Amino acid sequence: MRASDYPLTANRYPLSSSMPFIETKSLQDDYDVIVVGSGAAGGQTAYTLTMEGAKVLMLEAGRNYVAENETPMFNTHDQAPLRGVSTSDKEFGFYDATVDGGWQVPDEPYTNASNEKERQFWWWRARMLGGRTNHWGRISLRNGPYDFKPRSRDGLGFDWPMAYEDLAPYYDKVEMLIGVYGENDGLENTPNSPAGCLMPAPKPRVGEALVQQRATRIGVPTVAIHRAVLTERLDHQRIPKLLHPGNAGAQAILAAEMQRRAACFWATDCGRGCSIRANYQSTTVHLPPALSTGKLDVLTNAMVREVSMGKDGRANGVLFIDRRTGAEHQAKSRIVVLAASACETVRILLNSKSDRFPDGLANSSGKVGKYLMDTVGAGVAGQIPLLEGLPPHNDDGAGGSHVYAPWWLYKEQHRGKLDFARGYHIEMNAQRHMPSAGYVAGLAEHAQGHGRKFREEMRRYFGSTISFAGRGEMIPNEDSYCELDPVKKDKWGIPVLRFHWKWSEHETRQAAHMQQTFAQIIDAMGGKVLTKIETDGAKVIRPGGFIIHEVGGAIMGADPKSSVTNQWGQTWDVKNLFLTDGAPFPSNADKNPTLTIMALAWRASDYMLAAMKRKEL
Ligand SMILES: Cc1cc2nc3c(=O)[nH]c(=O)nc-3n(C[C@H](O)[C@H](O)[C@H](O)COP(=O)(O)OP(=O)(O)OC[C@H]3O[C@@H](n4cnc5c(N)ncnc54)[C@H](O)[C@@H]3O)c2cc1C
Ligand code: SF4
Repeated sequence: MRASDYPLTANRYPLSSSMPFIETKSLQDDYDVIVVGSGAAGGQTAYTLTMEGAKVLMLEAGRNYVAENETPMFNTHDQAPLRGVSTSDKEFGFYDATVDGGWQVPDEPYTNASNEKERQFWWWRARMLGGRTNHWGRISLRNGPYDFKPRSRDGLGFDWPMAYEDLAPYYDKVEMLIGVYGENDGLENTPNSPAGCLMPAPKPRVGEALVQQRATRIGVPTVAIHRAVLTERLDHQRIPKLLHPGNAGAQAILAAEMQRRAACFWATDCGRGCSIRANYQSTTVHLPPALSTGKLDVLTNAMVREVSMGKDGRANGVLFIDRRTGAEHQAKSRIVVLAASACETVRILLNSKSDRFPDGLANSSGKVGKYLMDTVGAGVAGQIPLLEGLPPHNDDGAGGSHVYAPWWLYKEQHRGKLDFARGYHIEMNAQRHMPSAGYVAGLAEHAQGHGRKFREEMRRYFGSTISFAGRGEMIPNEDSYCELDPVKKDKWGIPVLRFHWKWSEHETRQAAHMQQTFAQIIDAMGGKVLTKIETDGAKVIRPGGFIIHEVGGAIMGADPKSSVTNQWGQTWDVKNLFLTDGAPFPSNADKNPTLTIMALAWRASDYMLAAMKRKEL
């Protein structure tokens, strides 16, 4: 059945009221698909499936969250405890959208096998509808052709069992659906999007324009970043027809939802969420149309413990705990999709033990938990005299920078001129933010005098500091993985994950290269480096997991002996079990992973729909 076959319900669940959520007692017994998790992966999967007529149950461990009601877009720092600064339970500040999450989640511990800091993994989670998409940075970069065939290029890691061309149409669809601004620059391994996919990019801010000018002089191309923020209203007449050809119901639902999204007004912190739906959050972009089909049930506070199996060797649903009561329940479906974020998906697989699968589900290769990856991160800050004493001006914009530098040394690296494999891109912060508590303390290092003189110095230095952050590719290795902790359990008695981590020299040398590059850019800007430049990258590389781009743990491949899923995220061992989050990534290009997660989830969902239609699933 397609969306066009049932009555149009576009206005049934206006976002301004709370969205329709079911209670456990209302669970149906005829779901086509259960989707575990409601973030980028779960949101995209549920969207694609329901818009094309499948009946879906979404189970989300966190609580409901309605961005429109809960987003403190206009609150100022002085209205918050401790003036909104970071605390251990609000790492990104008081107003950050994350609910019940952070490096630690109440009642849900994890462990590290090693006491050595550099061998530990940091795990960021959110427990709320929409997961981390409510506050992510929204940088949305396509992987390039090389990124799907890394082993073929340099002999390291794994190739994907697909090529860029296989995923490209899905990148197009996701960009059009969620709204991504950016430009086509024709740079190596940095794909252009077809006409009509991207929105116009905002202009660089003053500091960013200076980086662009000076970095280009030393050979580092700096171009518009791609970010999931609407710079204009979505074209609700053109896009729905392209995304759902021949499906009038889905087109009408999407057109109505697109009209409910406003364009960005460039004034508030995207990390708090966006009540006008101008940026991408699963809660404001994927779930409203999916709910409007009438085909989606959402059950929150439902902590999935394991996938349940039938005697026929097929998954028949999941077992979950109601986090409010601690009671265990079962939900049933034809297909199960795990989209709980890479490590949580691994945890569910490993906890789904049975006589038939004593080492966890879909683990006949022994690869579940293996090849966990994050992004390589290192940073440098500088002070730029040319940016001192600027007249007051509006430097607002989207959350985060408007420009970035894609990796530019492919050719040199391929010729063996660098002492590490794989590249990094450069993100930066060159913006005059509304000062928060602590900002003045930073400026005071430069300012002289007291009283009026001091205030003048503050005005002079405000906005003249700049920071660069490298975001680089990590090569999967045998020492970075997760497994079940043999002892520790969470509040509900579910075994937790234990992490093992090790950067290889490729990553630490890459971090050292980042430091040198950032120092050169600051120098080219006539500035002064404020942080120590290390030649030993091991001293500056961020801990594993710290960049919050964790992927892998159930990699896809062409061979069931050495991988967990095929190219559609379908597990080799259980045909009606799919993974649509970052767990199947066999490599982690320098490009931030979420756009690729969504493109893969759409592609996997199309595959499921076709297989259901053929009655194969
Ligand atoms: C501060 C920050 C900035 C970021 N910036 C960027 C960026 O600019 N670009 C980019 O590409 N990526 C960025 N990321 C990463 C991005 O957020 C993730 O890649 C993306 O959210 C992953 O989507 P997901 O659906 O796999 O996981 P999530 O978004 O984490 O969603 C998973 C959901 O599953 C639920 N869940 C987990 N376990 C269970 C269970 N057992 N039962 C039921 N539900 C469960 C969780 O509660 C959660 O809601 C950023 C992340 C953070 C934290
Ligand atoms: S800057 Fe734009 S997209 Fe971000 S929260 Fe504000 S209005 Fe929304």
